[in-house]
Amino acid sequence: MAGMFRIGLGTDLHRLAEPGPLILGNIPIPAERHAIGHSDADALIHAIIDAILGASGGGDIGRLFPDTDEAHRGRDSGEMLMTVWKSVSAAGWQLGNLDCVIHLQRPKLAPYIPEMVNRLGQLLGVPAERINIKAKTGEGVGLVGREEAVAAECVVLLTREATP
Ligand code: MG
Repeated sequence: MAGMFRIGLGTDLHRLAEPGPLILGNIPIPAERHAIGHSDADALIHAIIDAILGASGGGDIGRLFPDTDEAHRGRDSGEMLMTVWKSVSAAGWQLGNLDCVIHLQRPKLAPYIPEMVNRLGQLLGVPAERINIKAKTGEGVGLVGREEAVAAECVVLLTREATP
């Protein structure tokens, strides 16, 4: 079947500071530190938004939701993702798959990944099987290892029917 395929890459990083919790994938994670940011600082969702915008040729998250705009202060990143996905899917794009990596020293994220995957599936309106999340520590070195930052990377594949 003829169709169009587009891949997109997104990354994000936020500084960490006490106290927790930490929001990742629109889920509050019990942690000693939270991520500092203008919105709710959900690094995973910010990386996903940038990947989707990249694949669809929509620019980047900073252009859509500038951190100089008070309207975005403390904003729920899940709601930002739904806003972006609504317009991208209205243009005919469907989600092929989404593959993500979160870099965080503590806590171990494995117990929270199924809930994050399900939540992202809800936000995007796609089966959870199209979403994969992996977690890595910083091995005690660098910004992540010293617990100074949380980072996320993701790639997305979007598909669309070819225009006749
Ligand atoms: Mg961000």
